[in-house]
Amino acid sequence: MLERILGIIGGGQLGMMLTEAAKKMPEHISDVIVLDPTPNCSAAQVGAKQIVGDFKDKNAILELASKVDILTYEIESGDSAVLKIAESKTTINPSPETLRIIQDKFLQKSFLKDNSIPVTDFVEIKSFDDLRKKIIHFGYPALLKARRDAYDGRGNFKIKSENDLEQALNYFSDKTLMLEKFVDFKMEVSVIAARNTKGQIATYPIVENIHENNILKMTIAPARVTKEVSHEAEKIAKKTMQVLHGAGVFGIEMFVTRQDQILINEIAPRVHNSGHHTLQSSKISQFEQHLRAIIGLDLGDTTLIHPTIMYNILGPDNFQGKYKMPDIKFDNLYLKMYGKEESKPQRKLGHANLVDVNDAGINWLLESINSLKDKIKPIPT
Ligand code: AMP
Repeated sequence: MLERILGIIGGGQLGMMLTEAAKKMPEHISDVIVLDPTPNCSAAQVGAKQIVGDFKDKNAILELASKVDILTYEIESGDSAVLKIAESKTTINPSPETLRIIQDKFLQKSFLKDNSIPVTDFVEIKSFDDLRKKIIHFGYPALLKARRDAYDGRGNFKIKSENDLEQALNYFSDKTLMLEKFVDFKMEVSVIAARNTKGQIATYPIVENIHENNILKMTIAPARVTKEVSHEAEKIAKKTMQVLHGAGVFGIEMFVTRQDQILINEIAPRVHNSGHHTLQSSKISQFEQHLRAIIGLDLGDTTLIHPTIMYNILGPDNFQGKYKMPDIKFDNLYLKMYGKEESKPQRKLGHANLVDVNDAGINWLLESINSLKDKIKPIPT
């Protein structure tokens, strides 16, 4: 049997589900080692070996690289310069160069724009004066964003009027910044796309994402959009994959404007929360697809077999500590918990996929999830 050890930087829920996918393909991947700072992280609980260390710890990354045949990551905050060094020890996918571009929102948007891929207007911001001058062209509201290391909306400040300018700049202290024109979108959607090392590209059908407090609450697969919008999103996703040259699965987040125009908001160079529905809705999950892509196998079938809603199980506000999940029985509801011992406000503890095997329709899915909401909740213990 082929000895091919997979390394993953990050052993949270994404690393966990990648590990589970890897364990189902022993003919291609013999072992998994993850790097994660939390002892007995989610991925370790499903059989990955673990190096306990920070995602940015150079020595730990180089140690991991020296032990594996192929290295990937489930977080985009890794140090791309260190990964470039680690490239001498192992194969890394997506490549550190692709990661470098994506990590910086300004470089990412510039790259997309240079390749004629639609994004909202944006500009680099260097100082208060710079902001005051440039925002005139965008009008209010506009979004000031940290270029790097910003997730779940925490790196954004919505500037509603001239009076907010100073507060907006102070919010970021010494971070590098960019300004974006505010998009009056009617829907947030995403396309999970894959490109393998041979250049083959595949996309899953467009899905609709509903956020609460900037955190993904629910994904509706497929999105409630017209065929034209769906084709356009797929076309844009495929073009993005062609120009990026990355191997692996990418989560491409987009806006659908009120005029049904598609704009890319941002790209995640990894498996994505809005792709978790594929565990039950599709023949090949995004996790298996990612592994197929990075080891150079043919990509799998991305057809959506049944409409599905993915509902994130988040830690309730005002509670931190140990918890348990209630016993929920509902046909075709699949609960996936990530093995995190403690709940914290808004922490992603698991997700539930509800699959519409009888073609009852999206409204049935929405009503059913709504009726189950109060039950799919962690209980403090
Ligand atoms: P981000 O962290 O940049 O992905 O942004 C988090 C959320 O902020 C997105 O999911 C959108 O809801 C919103 N957002 C980001 N950029 C814009 C924009 N240019 N216009 C309107 N809303 C935005």
